[in-house]
Amino acid sequence: MSAPAPVTNVDTRPYLLERVDDAAIVQLYADGFAALPLDQKTLIYHLYEAALAGRDIYYDQRYRHNLEMRAVLEQIITHAGGIDDATLHEVQRYTKLFWINTGPYNNLTARKFVLRCTPAAFAAAAAAAEQAGARFPVRDGESLEQMLARMEPLFFDPAVDPIVTNKTPGEGRDLLQASANNLYEDVTMADVEGFEERYPLNSRLVRQHGALVEEVYRIGGRYDAHIRTIVGHLERAIRFATPAMAAALEALIRFYRTGETADRVAYDVAWVQDKDSPVDTINGFVEVYMDARGTKGAWEALVYYVNPQKTHGIRRLAAAAQWFEDRMPWDPRFRKQGVRGVSANAIDVVVESGDSAPVTPVGINLPNDQNIREQYGSKSVSLSNVNEAYDKSTSHEFRREFAWSEEEADRAAKWSAVASELTTNMHEVIGHGSGRILEHLQGNPQTALKEQYSALEESRADLVALYFLPDAKLVELGLVEAADHEEIVRAEYEAYARNALVQLRRVREGTQIEEDHMRNRQMVVRWMMANSTAIVEKRRDGKTYYVVTDLKAFQEAAGRLLAEVQRIKAEGDYAAARALFETYGIHFDPQLRDEIVARVERLNMPSYTGFVQPKLTAVRDDHGNIVDVEISYPLDFTRQMLEYAGLPSV
Ligand SMILES: [Zn+2]
Repeated sequence: MSAPAPVTNVDTRPYLLERVDDAAIVQLYADGFAALPLDQKTLIYHLYEAALAGRDIYYDQRYRHNLEMRAVLEQIITHAGGIDDATLHEVQRYTKLFWINTGPYNNLTARKFVLRCTPAAFAAAAAAAEQAGARFPVRDGESLEQMLARMEPLFFDPAVDPIVTNKTPGEGRDLLQASANNLYEDVTMADVEGFEERYPLNSRLVRQHGALVEEVYRIGGRYDAHIRTIVGHLERAIRFATPAMAAALEALIRFYRTGETADRVAYDVAWVQDKDSPVDTINGFVEVYMDARGTKGAWEALVYYVNPQKTHGIRRLAAAAQWFEDRMPWDPRFRKQGVRGVSANAIDVVVESGDSAPVTPVGINLPNDQNIREQYGSKSVSLSNVNEAYDKSTSHEFRREFAWSEEEADRAAKWSAVASELTTNMHEVIGHGSGRILEHLQGNPQTALKEQYSALEESRADLVALYFLPDAKLVELGLVEAADHEEIVRAEYEAYARNALVQLRRVREGTQIEEDHMRNRQMVVRWMMANSTAIVEKRRDGKTYYVVTDLKAFQEAAGRLLAEVQRIKAEGDYAAARALFETYGIHFDPQLRDEIVARVERLNMPSYTGFVQPKLTAVRDDHGNIVDVEISYPLDFTRQMLEYAGLPSV
């Protein structure tokens, strides 16, 4: 039985590299890479090349002017000798935000941001850069001035193409017309309704001579050159892969060649069936959030290896799923027999590209195809090194600001990474899969619970984790050390309570929480405050704190609420779900929010983070064979972005 990784404070490497407006830039580390066997390193190297080869596909999908805008910006900042300081500074700021967000749209708000200098200053900077040897993407016969005039609205006018994805454009306005992304051209929702797409996930839909045409993303189709390069790297990767992974890569290559849905399905099945390979990749048109219709896939790639020690812990948790089920604090009628924990891998990412970088998810569950999920299951990964980098780059002042005591802040610094990873794993592995629902719902509680379903289900999974977190079973499973257990529980309960306050910074307008995970966490904390003695509100120097008083009371309250939440799900009690969230989860006091926002702003806390990826370099012998792969950490966002674009450093 192995113990969890020891927590030490000796990691003095730089994590937070710089701040750009409300974004943070953080270095990602992949410490396990160097110890991997050469064949796995070589495999990862080829997959890494395949990942970076598709980066510009996502730029183009996100906005049709993205690549041209990026070329202009990169030419200016790499030929900056004659540019005045103030303008250069502003162009650098804007360019970094452009890279972090893959274009001029903010990740969180989907809204356009613009250059803050004058068009004349920008034109002077471009002219100086041209003098210094910059090569701009001018069209045939076009002068630099004409190019800049043509592009001026793109850089300077927030009203031109204002929103990348607009799911609520307002009465009488069209979803697709109101969204600036490049997944459609000159197409409306009404057009799409009568049109049967043969390539729903992997095509751009355009109007040509009055008819709708699908431009398929495949070899010989749209993005032909990029996809050919990706496929070339995938082909080189295959001989280093396990048989199951090789089968998945072969299926992926076939899909990139044909673009046919049947081949996409075959690939998804092959990918999900490869459950045990130590290295894995996601490479293709995957998530559909950028499409207001939720149909077209955004290109992304991730390459990662399994973190065996952490994954071992998750598997032990999954194997004990029935033990937890038998002890769920709800009506025995709702207990399930034969429950199997969801199998998940803890992974370390080596590189991310496209839709998953520089801003990255922390957990992924794929494939999205519901039929495949039901027949073959899914693969779930938690990005361990990303979580760690988030934690290490969080400032102590921030923890201090919302913690009631110095001890609470210290406890968070020491244990929050361990505690939140454990709670997240419990949420995923023994939370979502637990419990049974009554026959009359026919396996489909969503229909009864409607818009309340997601927040309720997230609450249920959170509460399972919170309820069992203090259980001695976790020590028996080797997930925590007995001596640290109580401190870890306290750190997690305190973080959970604090979060209900801190999360309000994200809702700067209105007095309602919309996002389901946020609703769930607000509901749980505020319900406990109203129905138990576990958490109390305290005030000091005009500041509000949510303070955990008693661990036993917290666990008891979590169990009591969990029993009710499970009943609501099992019976499909819509009225009770609605009342729960309307009372505790959705509405908040705007004065409290304003206080939190002011505190966060005084600390200059980032709202989101872009990551600098590790860099791989192949060491080759005289015959060109790879004899080693070295990993390094650039610690410089600008240098990495320019390198990805094939430009020299500045
Ligand atoms: Zn969940």
